[in-house]
Amino acid sequence: MSSMEFEPVIGLEVHAQLKTKTKIFCSCSTKFGAPPNTHTCPVCLGMPGVLPVLNKKVVEYTLAMALATHCRVAGESRFARKNYFYPDLPKGYQISQYELPLSHHGYVEIQLNDHKKRIGITRIHMEEDAGKLIHDTVRPYSRVDFNRTGVPLIEIVSEPDIRSPEEAGAYLRQLRAILRYLDICDGNMEEGSFRCDANVSVRPKGSDAFGTRTELKNLNSFKHVEKALQFEIRRQTERIADGGEVVQETRLWDPDKNQTTSMRGKEEAHDYRYFPDPDLLPLVIDDEWIASVKEKLPELPDQKKHRFQVEYDLPSYDAEVLTSSRELADYFEACIKDFNQPKPVSNWIMGSLLGYLNAQGITIEASPIAPRDLAGLLKLMDEGLISGKIAKTVFEEMAKTGKPPKQIVEEKGLVQVSDESLIDEVVARVLSDHPEEADAYRNGKTKLLGFFVGQIMKATQGKANPQTVNQILRGKLESD
Ligand code: ADP
Ligand code: MG
Ligand code: ZN
Repeated sequence: MSSMEFEPVIGLEVHAQLKTKTKIFCSCSTKFGAPPNTHTCPVCLGMPGVLPVLNKKVVEYTLAMALATHCRVAGESRFARKNYFYPDLPKGYQISQYELPLSHHGYVEIQLNDHKKRIGITRIHMEEDAGKLIHDTVRPYSRVDFNRTGVPLIEIVSEPDIRSPEEAGAYLRQLRAILRYLDICDGNMEEGSFRCDANVSVRPKGSDAFGTRTELKNLNSFKHVEKALQFEIRRQTERIADGGEVVQETRLWDPDKNQTTSMRGKEEAHDYRYFPDPDLLPLVIDDEWIASVKEKLPELPDQKKHRFQVEYDLPSYDAEVLTSSRELADYFEACIKDFNQPKPVSNWIMGSLLGYLNAQGITIEASPIAPRDLAGLLKLMDEGLISGKIAKTVFEEMAKTGKPPKQIVEEKGLVQVSDESLIDEVVARVLSDHPEEADAYRNGKTKLLGFFVGQIMKATQGKANPQTVNQILRGKLESD
Protein backbone atom coordinates (compact mmCIF):
# COMPACT_ATOMS: atom_id res chain seq x y z
CA MET A 1 0.00 0.00 0.00
CA SER A 2 2.75 2.44 0.91
CA SER A 3 4.28 2.15 -2.56
CA MET A 4 1.02 3.32 -4.12
CA GLU A 5 1.17 6.74 -5.70
CA PHE A 6 -1.52 9.30 -4.93
CA GLU A 7 -2.62 12.37 -6.82
CA PRO A 8 -4.44 15.36 -5.40
CA VAL A 9 -7.77 16.63 -6.73
CA ILE A 10 -8.51 20.28 -5.99
CA GLY A 11 -11.48 22.57 -6.57
CA LEU A 12 -11.56 26.21 -5.46
CA GLU A 13 -14.38 28.48 -4.34
CA VAL A 14 -13.44 32.13 -4.75
CA HIS A 15 -15.32 35.09 -3.34
CA ALA A 16 -14.53 38.39 -5.01
CA GLN A 17 -15.80 41.65 -3.61
CA LEU A 18 -17.12 43.88 -6.39
CA LYS A 19 -15.98 47.49 -6.64
CA THR A 20 -19.42 49.05 -6.91
CA LYS A 21 -20.02 52.35 -5.09
CA THR A 22 -23.11 51.03 -3.31
CA LYS A 23 -24.23 47.72 -1.82
CA ILE A 24 -26.06 45.00 -3.71
CA PHE A 25 -29.61 45.61 -2.39
CA CYS A 26 -29.51 49.14 -0.89
CA SER A 27 -27.79 52.47 -1.54
CA CYS A 28 -25.34 52.30 1.39
CA SER A 29 -21.71 52.97 0.54
CA THR A 30 -19.30 50.05 0.17
CA LYS A 31 -16.30 52.16 1.13
CA PHE A 32 -13.80 50.30 3.29
CA GLY A 33 -12.54 51.65 6.60
CA ALA A 34 -15.47 53.83 7.74
CA PRO A 35 -16.32 53.94 11.48
CA PRO A 36 -18.32 50.83 12.44
CA ASN A 37 -22.02 50.75 11.54
CA THR A 38 -22.04 54.07 9.68
CA HIS A 39 -22.75 52.49 6.28
CA THR A 40 -26.00 50.84 7.23
CA CYS A 41 -29.74 51.25 6.62
CA PRO A 42 -32.91 49.30 7.42
CA VAL A 43 -32.36 47.09 4.34
CA CYS A 44 -28.84 45.89 5.11
CA LEU A 45 -29.63 45.72 8.81
CA GLY A 46 -32.45 43.31 8.03
CA MET A 47 -35.32 45.34 9.56
CA PRO A 48 -38.78 43.93 9.00
CA GLY A 49 -40.96 45.42 6.29
CA VAL A 50 -38.24 46.64 3.94
CA LEU A 51 -37.48 45.34 0.45
CA PRO A 52 -34.19 44.75 -1.35
CA VAL A 53 -33.65 46.44 -4.73
CA LEU A 54 -31.03 44.87 -6.98
CA ASN A 55 -28.08 47.08 -7.97
CA LYS A 56 -27.78 46.92 -11.77
CA LYS A 57 -24.02 47.49 -11.68
CA VAL A 58 -23.59 44.26 -9.73
CA VAL A 59 -25.29 42.35 -12.54
CA GLU A 60 -23.14 44.07 -15.16
CA TYR A 61 -19.90 43.34 -13.30
CA THR A 62 -20.86 39.71 -12.81
CA LEU A 63 -21.82 39.44 -16.46
CA ALA A 64 -18.44 40.86 -17.45
CA MET A 65 -16.65 38.20 -15.38
CA ALA A 66 -18.91 35.46 -16.77
CA LEU A 67 -18.17 36.50 -20.34
CA ALA A 68 -14.45 36.90 -19.68
CA THR A 69 -14.32 33.31 -18.40
CA HIS A 70 -16.34 31.84 -21.29
CA CYS A 71 -19.37 31.04 -19.14
CA ARG A 72 -22.87 30.49 -20.40
CA VAL A 73 -25.21 33.18 -19.13
CA ALA A 74 -28.63 32.15 -17.90
CA GLY A 75 -31.46 34.10 -19.54
CA GLU A 76 -33.27 33.84 -16.26
CA SER A 77 -31.63 33.39 -12.89
CA ARG A 78 -32.91 33.57 -9.32
CA PHE A 79 -31.88 34.79 -5.92
CA ALA A 80 -32.20 32.34 -3.05
CA ARG A 81 -32.06 32.56 0.71
CA LYS A 82 -29.32 30.62 2.41
CA ASN A 83 -30.50 30.29 5.99
CA TYR A 84 -28.18 30.11 8.95
CA PHE A 85 -27.61 31.89 12.22
CA TYR A 86 -24.52 33.90 12.98
CA PRO A 87 -24.23 37.28 14.74
CA ASP A 88 -22.76 38.97 11.65
CA LEU A 89 -25.86 38.09 9.61
CA PRO A 90 -28.74 40.28 10.83
CA LYS A 91 -31.46 38.82 8.57
CA GLY A 92 -30.76 35.23 9.58
CA TYR A 93 -30.20 34.43 5.91
CA GLN A 94 -27.81 35.43 3.17
CA ILE A 95 -29.20 36.35 -0.22
CA SER A 96 -27.30 34.24 -2.73
CA GLN A 97 -28.05 32.27 -5.87
CA TYR A 98 -28.51 28.54 -5.73
CA GLU A 99 -30.47 26.53 -8.25
CA LEU A 100 -30.34 29.09 -11.03
CA PRO A 101 -27.04 31.00 -10.93
CA LEU A 102 -26.34 33.85 -13.31
CA SER A 103 -23.76 31.84 -15.23
CA HIS A 104 -22.16 28.40 -15.50
CA HIS A 105 -19.90 26.11 -17.56
CA GLY A 106 -16.92 28.36 -18.26
CA TYR A 107 -13.17 27.99 -18.02
CA VAL A 108 -9.92 29.85 -17.60
CA GLU A 109 -6.62 28.89 -19.11
CA ILE A 110 -3.55 28.64 -16.93
CA GLN A 111 0.07 28.23 -17.87
CA LEU A 112 2.74 26.52 -15.77
CA ASN A 113 6.16 26.51 -17.38
CA ASP A 114 5.40 25.43 -20.94
CA HIS A 115 2.27 23.56 -20.13
CA LYS A 116 -1.16 25.07 -20.74
CA LYS A 117 -4.31 23.80 -19.15
CA ARG A 118 -7.98 24.69 -18.92
CA ILE A 119 -9.62 24.80 -15.51
CA GLY A 120 -13.38 24.47 -15.73
CA ILE A 121 -15.66 26.93 -13.97
CA THR A 122 -18.78 25.33 -12.60
CA ARG A 123 -20.66 28.53 -11.90
CA ILE A 124 -20.40 32.23 -11.14
CA HIS A 125 -23.15 33.73 -9.06
CA MET A 126 -23.93 36.87 -7.07
CA GLU A 127 -24.43 37.13 -3.35
CA GLU A 128 -24.19 39.54 -0.45
CA ASP A 129 -21.36 39.69 2.06
CA ALA A 130 -21.91 39.35 5.81
CA GLY A 131 -20.80 41.78 8.53
CA LYS A 132 -17.67 41.51 10.60
CA LEU A 133 -17.20 40.45 14.21
CA ILE A 134 -14.60 42.34 16.16
CA HIS A 135 -13.35 40.23 19.01
CA ASP A 136 -12.25 42.16 22.06
CA THR A 137 -8.73 41.14 22.97
CA VAL A 138 -9.17 41.86 26.67
CA ARG A 139 -12.79 41.49 27.69
CA PRO A 140 -14.78 38.33 26.94
CA TYR A 141 -17.09 39.72 24.28
CA SER A 142 -17.26 40.61 20.60
CA ARG A 143 -18.75 43.55 18.78
CA VAL A 144 -20.27 43.56 15.34
CA ASP A 145 -19.77 45.94 12.43
CA PHE A 146 -22.47 45.82 9.75
CA ASN A 147 -20.70 48.08 7.24
CA ARG A 148 -19.78 45.05 5.12
CA THR A 149 -23.26 43.53 5.28
CA GLY A 150 -24.72 43.63 1.77
CA VAL A 151 -21.46 44.44 -0.02
CA PRO A 152 -21.68 42.61 -3.36
CA LEU A 153 -19.70 39.43 -3.92
CA ILE A 154 -19.38 37.05 -6.77
CA GLU A 155 -18.67 33.44 -6.03
CA ILE A 156 -16.63 31.60 -8.63
CA VAL A 157 -16.67 27.83 -8.20
CA SER A 158 -14.15 25.77 -10.12
CA GLU A 159 -14.50 22.20 -11.31
CA PRO A 160 -12.25 19.72 -9.47
CA ASP A 161 -9.76 20.07 -12.36
CA ILE A 162 -6.76 21.28 -10.40
CA ARG A 163 -4.03 18.71 -9.72
CA SER A 164 -1.36 20.47 -7.66
CA PRO A 165 -0.89 23.39 -5.29
CA GLU A 166 1.08 25.16 -8.04
CA GLU A 167 -1.85 24.82 -10.45
CA ALA A 168 -4.13 26.19 -7.73
CA GLY A 169 -1.83 29.22 -7.39
CA ALA A 170 -1.72 29.76 -11.14
CA TYR A 171 -5.51 29.51 -11.40
CA LEU A 172 -6.02 32.03 -8.60
CA ARG A 173 -3.53 34.46 -10.11
CA GLN A 174 -5.25 34.19 -13.46
CA LEU A 175 -8.70 34.79 -11.94
CA ARG A 176 -7.37 37.77 -10.03
CA ALA A 177 -5.72 39.19 -13.13
CA ILE A 178 -8.98 38.93 -15.08
CA LEU A 179 -10.96 40.62 -12.28
CA ARG A 180 -8.42 43.42 -12.14
CA TYR A 181 -8.30 43.84 -15.91
CA LEU A 182 -12.09 44.18 -15.82
CA ASP A 183 -11.64 46.68 -12.98
CA ILE A 184 -14.44 45.08 -10.96
CA CYS A 185 -12.48 43.85 -7.91
CA ASP A 186 -9.24 45.04 -6.42
CA GLY A 187 -8.11 41.48 -5.75
CA ASN A 188 -6.51 42.08 -2.39
CA MET A 189 -6.23 38.75 -0.58
CA GLU A 190 -4.74 40.18 2.59
CA GLU A 191 -7.61 42.66 2.98
CA GLY A 192 -10.18 40.05 2.06
CA SER A 193 -11.56 41.50 -1.17
CA PHE A 194 -10.44 38.27 -2.88
CA ARG A 195 -10.97 35.16 -0.75
CA CYS A 196 -10.51 31.50 -1.42
CA ASP A 197 -11.69 28.25 0.13
CA ALA A 198 -9.87 25.18 -1.14
CA ASN A 199 -11.46 21.75 -1.49
CA VAL A 200 -9.00 18.90 -1.71
CA SER A 201 -8.97 15.13 -1.83
CA VAL A 202 -6.43 12.53 -2.90
CA ARG A 203 -6.84 9.34 -4.88
CA PRO A 204 -4.62 6.57 -6.24
CA LYS A 205 -2.98 7.76 -9.43
CA GLY A 206 -4.92 6.57 -12.46
CA SER A 207 -8.19 6.20 -10.59
CA ASP A 208 -11.32 7.88 -12.01
CA ALA A 209 -13.22 8.15 -8.75
CA PHE A 210 -12.81 11.07 -6.39
CA GLY A 211 -11.77 10.60 -2.80
CA THR A 212 -13.41 12.22 0.21
CA ARG A 213 -12.57 15.92 0.36
CA THR A 214 -11.90 18.43 3.05
CA GLU A 215 -12.53 22.15 2.71
CA LEU A 216 -9.77 24.51 3.84
CA LYS A 217 -10.47 27.97 5.19
CA ASN A 218 -8.50 30.99 6.39
CA LEU A 219 -6.25 31.22 3.35
CA ASN A 220 -5.26 34.89 3.25
CA SER A 221 -2.53 34.86 0.64
CA PHE A 222 -1.42 32.91 -2.41
CA LYS A 223 1.41 31.48 -0.35
CA HIS A 224 -0.98 30.22 2.31
CA VAL A 225 -3.22 28.57 -0.27
CA GLU A 226 -0.29 26.62 -1.65
CA LYS A 227 1.17 25.75 1.74
CA ALA A 228 -2.17 24.66 3.19
CA LEU A 229 -2.81 22.44 0.17
CA GLN A 230 0.65 20.88 0.45
CA PHE A 231 0.07 20.11 4.10
CA GLU A 232 -3.39 18.72 3.52
CA ILE A 233 -2.33 16.53 0.59
CA ARG A 234 0.42 15.04 2.73
CA ARG A 235 -1.92 14.52 5.67
CA GLN A 236 -4.59 12.77 3.59
CA THR A 237 -2.06 10.65 1.71
CA GLU A 238 -0.44 9.44 4.91
CA ARG A 239 -3.78 8.66 6.46
CA ILE A 240 -4.91 6.56 3.50
CA ALA A 241 -1.54 4.87 3.14
CA ASP A 242 -1.86 3.88 6.81
CA GLY A 243 -5.18 2.22 6.07
CA GLY A 244 -7.27 5.05 7.55
CA GLU A 245 -9.99 7.22 6.03
CA VAL A 246 -10.35 10.91 5.32
CA VAL A 247 -13.29 12.52 7.11
CA GLN A 248 -15.32 15.05 5.13
CA GLU A 249 -14.98 18.23 7.14
CA THR A 250 -14.04 21.89 7.15
CA ARG A 251 -10.48 22.54 8.29
CA LEU A 252 -8.80 25.73 9.35
CA TRP A 253 -5.31 26.68 8.15
CA ASP A 254 -3.03 27.82 10.96
CA PRO A 255 -0.28 29.93 9.39
CA ASP A 256 1.78 29.99 12.57
CA LYS A 257 1.88 26.25 13.05
CA ASN A 258 1.83 25.47 9.31
CA GLN A 259 -0.95 22.95 9.64
CA THR A 260 -4.69 22.50 9.19
CA THR A 261 -6.93 21.54 12.07
CA SER A 262 -10.48 20.27 12.12
CA MET A 263 -13.01 23.07 12.54
CA ARG A 264 -16.38 21.45 12.02
CA GLY A 265 -18.12 18.69 10.16
CA LYS A 266 -18.98 19.63 6.61
CA GLU A 267 -22.39 21.26 6.27
CA GLU A 268 -24.59 20.04 3.43
CA ALA A 269 -26.73 22.17 1.14
CA HIS A 270 -29.92 20.91 2.80
CA ASP A 271 -28.69 22.26 6.13
CA TYR A 272 -29.22 25.74 4.73
CA ARG A 273 -32.86 25.29 3.72
CA TYR A 274 -32.31 27.15 0.49
CA PHE A 275 -35.46 28.57 -1.11
CA PRO A 276 -36.13 31.25 -3.75
CA ASP A 277 -36.22 34.74 -2.21
CA PRO A 278 -39.82 35.92 -2.50
CA ASP A 279 -38.71 39.58 -2.22
CA LEU A 280 -36.77 39.52 -5.48
CA LEU A 281 -38.03 38.91 -8.99
CA PRO A 282 -36.31 36.43 -11.26
CA LEU A 283 -33.44 38.20 -12.99
CA VAL A 284 -33.95 38.31 -16.75
CA ILE A 285 -30.94 39.02 -18.92
CA ASP A 286 -31.60 39.37 -22.64
CA ASP A 287 -29.14 39.03 -25.52
CA GLU A 288 -29.01 42.76 -25.97
CA TRP A 289 -27.79 43.30 -22.43
CA ILE A 290 -25.18 40.57 -22.84
CA ALA A 291 -24.03 42.11 -26.13
CA SER A 292 -23.67 45.55 -24.59
CA VAL A 293 -21.50 44.22 -21.75
CA LYS A 294 -19.45 42.15 -24.21
CA GLU A 295 -18.82 45.20 -26.33
CA LYS A 296 -17.33 47.07 -23.39
CA LEU A 297 -14.96 44.28 -22.30
CA PRO A 298 -11.35 45.43 -22.29
CA GLU A 299 -8.51 43.42 -23.79
CA LEU A 300 -8.05 40.52 -21.35
CA PRO A 301 -4.79 38.98 -20.06
CA ASP A 302 -4.68 36.10 -22.59
CA GLN A 303 -5.42 38.38 -25.52
CA LYS A 304 -2.89 40.93 -24.41
CA LYS A 305 -0.25 38.28 -23.89
CA HIS A 306 -0.82 36.92 -27.36
CA ARG A 307 -0.67 40.41 -28.87
CA PHE A 308 2.58 41.19 -27.03
CA GLN A 309 4.15 38.06 -28.50
CA VAL A 310 3.04 38.88 -32.02
CA GLU A 311 3.28 42.67 -32.10
CA TYR A 312 6.50 43.05 -30.10
CA ASP A 313 8.05 39.70 -30.94
CA LEU A 314 8.54 38.94 -27.25
CA PRO A 315 9.16 35.45 -25.81
CA SER A 316 6.16 33.85 -24.12
CA TYR A 317 7.78 34.31 -20.72
CA ASP A 318 8.25 38.06 -21.17
CA ALA A 319 4.70 38.46 -22.45
CA GLU A 320 3.37 36.51 -19.49
CA VAL A 321 5.19 38.65 -16.94
CA LEU A 322 4.44 41.96 -18.65
CA THR A 323 0.72 41.26 -18.93
CA SER A 324 0.36 39.90 -15.40
CA SER A 325 -1.30 43.20 -14.57
CA ARG A 326 -2.91 45.80 -16.75
CA GLU A 327 -0.81 48.54 -15.12
CA LEU A 328 2.44 46.75 -15.90
CA ALA A 329 1.37 46.15 -19.50
CA ASP A 330 0.44 49.83 -19.81
CA TYR A 331 3.82 50.80 -18.39
CA PHE A 332 5.60 48.66 -20.98
CA GLU A 333 3.58 50.12 -23.83
CA ALA A 334 4.17 53.67 -22.61
CA CYS A 335 7.93 52.97 -22.72
CA ILE A 336 7.64 51.53 -26.23
CA LYS A 337 6.00 54.74 -27.43
CA ASP A 338 9.19 56.63 -26.56
CA PHE A 339 11.74 53.94 -27.30
CA ASN A 340 10.62 51.31 -29.75
CA GLN A 341 12.94 48.41 -28.88
CA PRO A 342 10.67 45.88 -27.14
CA LYS A 343 13.22 43.33 -25.96
CA PRO A 344 15.59 45.78 -24.23
CA VAL A 345 12.61 47.56 -22.68
CA SER A 346 11.24 44.23 -21.47
CA ASN A 347 14.63 43.24 -20.03
CA TRP A 348 14.94 46.46 -18.07
CA ILE A 349 11.39 46.28 -16.76
CA MET A 350 11.60 42.61 -15.75
CA GLY A 351 15.12 42.92 -14.38
CA SER A 352 16.01 46.26 -12.85
CA LEU A 353 12.58 47.83 -12.44
CA LEU A 354 10.60 44.89 -11.04
CA GLY A 355 13.63 43.91 -8.98
CA TYR A 356 13.68 47.33 -7.41
CA LEU A 357 9.91 47.57 -6.91
CA ASN A 358 9.68 44.10 -5.35
CA ALA A 359 12.55 44.82 -3.00
CA GLN A 360 10.84 48.04 -1.90
CA GLY A 361 7.42 46.41 -1.77
CA ILE A 362 5.83 48.91 -4.14
CA THR A 363 3.59 48.32 -7.11
CA ILE A 364 4.15 49.52 -10.66
CA GLU A 365 1.50 52.22 -10.23
CA ALA A 366 3.68 53.82 -7.56
CA SER A 367 6.93 53.44 -9.50
CA PRO A 368 9.23 56.41 -8.82
CA ILE A 369 10.49 56.02 -12.39
CA ALA A 370 8.03 57.17 -15.04
CA PRO A 371 7.89 55.18 -18.32
CA ARG A 372 9.12 58.25 -20.17
CA ASP A 373 12.25 58.30 -18.02
CA LEU A 374 13.02 54.60 -18.33
CA ALA A 375 12.68 54.98 -22.10
CA GLY A 376 14.90 58.07 -21.87
CA LEU A 377 17.57 56.06 -20.09
CA LEU A 378 17.57 53.39 -22.78
CA LYS A 379 17.76 56.09 -25.41
CA LEU A 380 20.88 57.58 -23.80
CA MET A 381 22.45 54.15 -23.92
CA ASP A 382 21.36 53.53 -27.46
CA GLU A 383 22.85 56.82 -28.59
CA GLY A 384 26.15 55.86 -27.00
CA LEU A 385 25.96 58.70 -24.48
CA ILE A 386 26.29 56.35 -21.52
CA SER A 387 27.48 52.77 -21.16
CA GLY A 388 25.36 49.92 -19.85
CA LYS A 389 27.30 50.05 -16.61
CA ILE A 390 26.69 53.77 -16.13
CA ALA A 391 23.04 53.19 -17.00
CA LYS A 392 22.72 50.96 -13.93
CA THR A 393 24.09 53.77 -11.77
CA VAL A 394 21.74 56.29 -13.36
CA PHE A 395 18.85 53.88 -12.86
CA GLU A 396 19.55 53.62 -9.14
CA GLU A 397 19.68 57.39 -8.88
CA MET A 398 16.41 57.70 -10.82
CA ALA A 399 14.75 55.26 -8.43
CA LYS A 400 16.02 57.20 -5.43
CA THR A 401 15.27 60.73 -6.63
CA GLY A 402 12.69 60.41 -9.41
CA LYS A 403 14.81 62.74 -11.52
CA PRO A 404 14.93 62.31 -15.31
CA PRO A 405 18.02 60.43 -16.57
CA LYS A 406 19.44 63.30 -18.62
CA GLN A 407 19.52 65.56 -15.60
CA ILE A 408 21.31 62.91 -13.52
CA VAL A 409 23.86 62.28 -16.26
CA GLU A 410 24.56 66.00 -16.54
CA GLU A 411 24.65 66.73 -12.82
CA LYS A 412 26.98 63.83 -12.11
CA GLY A 413 29.07 64.26 -15.23
CA LEU A 414 28.39 60.72 -16.36
CA VAL A 415 28.41 61.30 -20.10
CA GLN A 416 30.28 58.55 -21.85
CA VAL A 417 33.62 59.49 -23.34
CA SER A 418 33.81 58.49 -26.98
CA ASP A 419 36.48 60.99 -27.87
CA GLU A 420 39.15 58.83 -29.52
CA SER A 421 42.15 61.02 -28.80
CA LEU A 422 41.24 61.14 -25.12
CA ILE A 423 40.76 57.40 -24.87
CA ASP A 424 43.94 56.89 -26.86
CA GLU A 425 45.85 58.79 -24.20
CA VAL A 426 44.43 56.75 -21.36
CA VAL A 427 45.14 53.47 -23.17
CA ALA A 428 48.71 54.50 -23.79
CA ARG A 429 49.18 55.42 -20.18
CA VAL A 430 47.71 52.17 -18.87
CA LEU A 431 49.91 50.13 -21.21
CA SER A 432 53.06 51.94 -20.19
CA ASP A 433 52.11 51.51 -16.54
CA HIS A 434 51.86 47.74 -17.05
CA PRO A 435 54.67 46.71 -19.41
CA GLU A 436 54.87 43.14 -18.09
CA GLU A 437 51.23 42.43 -18.71
CA ALA A 438 51.47 44.00 -22.13
CA ASP A 439 54.34 41.65 -23.00
CA ALA A 440 52.47 38.68 -21.63
CA TYR A 441 49.49 39.57 -23.79
CA ARG A 442 51.64 39.79 -26.87
CA ASN A 443 53.10 36.39 -26.00
CA GLY A 444 49.68 34.85 -26.20
CA LYS A 445 48.04 35.52 -22.82
CA THR A 446 45.10 37.23 -24.54
CA LYS A 447 42.90 36.77 -21.48
CA LEU A 448 44.63 39.87 -20.13
CA LEU A 449 42.48 42.03 -22.39
CA GLY A 450 39.85 42.16 -19.65
CA PHE A 451 42.46 43.35 -17.18
CA PHE A 452 43.39 46.29 -19.42
CA VAL A 453 39.77 47.19 -20.10
CA GLY A 454 39.20 47.18 -16.35
CA GLN A 455 42.15 49.51 -15.75
CA ILE A 456 40.98 51.90 -18.45
CA MET A 457 37.44 51.95 -17.12
CA LYS A 458 38.80 52.62 -13.66
CA ALA A 459 40.88 55.50 -14.96
CA THR A 460 37.84 57.01 -16.69
CA GLN A 461 35.37 56.24 -13.86
CA GLY A 462 33.50 53.91 -16.15
CA LYS A 463 32.77 56.63 -18.65
CA ALA A 464 34.84 55.46 -21.59
CA ASN A 465 32.85 54.02 -24.45
CA PRO A 466 33.63 50.28 -24.19
CA GLN A 467 33.60 49.77 -27.94
CA THR A 468 36.08 52.55 -28.57
CA VAL A 469 38.26 51.28 -25.73
CA ASN A 470 38.34 47.78 -27.16
CA GLN A 471 39.14 48.98 -30.61
CA ILE A 472 42.00 51.25 -29.57
CA LEU A 473 43.37 48.78 -27.04
CA ARG A 474 43.51 45.90 -29.51
CA GLY A 475 45.05 48.18 -32.07
CA LYS A 476 47.84 49.16 -29.71
CA LEU A 477 48.46 45.68 -28.32
CA GLU A 478 48.50 43.99 -31.66
CA SER A 479 50.44 46.57 -33.69
CA ASP A 480 53.61 47.22 -31.75
P1 ADP B 1 -20.08 23.07 -1.34
O1 ADP B 1 -20.85 24.26 -1.82
O2 ADP B 1 -20.80 22.22 -0.41
O3 ADP B 1 -18.73 23.45 -0.80
P2 ADP B 1 -19.73 22.25 -4.11
O4 ADP B 1 -20.35 21.07 -4.78
O5 ADP B 1 -20.18 23.60 -4.54
O6 ADP B 1 -19.84 22.07 -2.56
O7 ADP B 1 -18.17 22.11 -4.37
C1 ADP B 1 -17.28 22.97 -3.87
C2 ADP B 1 -15.93 22.76 -4.51
O8 ADP B 1 -15.41 21.49 -4.20
C3 ADP B 1 -15.90 22.85 -6.02
O9 ADP B 1 -14.88 23.74 -6.38
C4 ADP B 1 -15.61 21.44 -6.48
O10 ADP B 1 -14.82 21.45 -7.64
C5 ADP B 1 -14.82 20.89 -5.32
N1 ADP B 1 -14.90 19.45 -5.15
C6 ADP B 1 -16.00 18.69 -5.19
N2 ADP B 1 -15.69 17.38 -4.93
C7 ADP B 1 -14.35 17.35 -4.71
C8 ADP B 1 -13.42 16.29 -4.39
N3 ADP B 1 -13.79 15.05 -4.21
N4 ADP B 1 -12.13 16.63 -4.22
C9 ADP B 1 -11.73 17.90 -4.38
N5 ADP B 1 -12.55 18.91 -4.68
C10 ADP B 1 -13.85 18.65 -4.84
MG1 MG C 1 -18.16 25.27 -0.06
ZN1 ZN D 1 -27.96 49.60 3.55
